[in-house]
Amino acid sequence: MKKEQMEEINDVDEINDELAGLREFVAPCRFCQQFVAFKWNAKKEVSDEEKTEQATLNCNCESAKWYQDRMTKINTAQMNIEELFSDPDEHELQQLLLSATAMIVDKNIFKISIIARNGAKGDFTISPSGKIKIKRTEATVTEASL
Ligand SMILES: [Zn+2]
Repeated sequence: MKKEQMEEINDVDEINDELAGLREFVAPCRFCQQFVAFKWNAKKEVSDEEKTEQATLNCNCESAKWYQDRMTKINTAQMNIEELFSDPDEHELQQLLLSATAMIVDKNIFKISIIARNGAKGDFTISPSGKIKIKRTEATVTEASL
């Protein structure tokens, strides 16, 4: 590829980054302290702590990979909790489960079971091998007695 063509492609990349609001940063990983370069769709003012968090999420060291895996599990569980318990009558149940996400993912708690005012039941569990399960059970019971 000619040098001119490569420069054009770089320009296109820069324009796309700008459109996506991406800015370039360099910050140290929380675990290995190595400086990591990354692009981030950041708001105007960014604290050092936020930059360190992003650097850690972009680092390849073993500890950072463990941390990234943990954050992915926490975020995925929280998205599922928000989706499953979106009924306004289950708001408090949802908030309690959301606040317990890290405790479950870190296996400090293995099971939480809550019943909301509308009777819906929320079960949030992690198996000893690390399998996470979020279950919503409706309280609807239909019965006929003659
Ligand atoms: Zn690292």
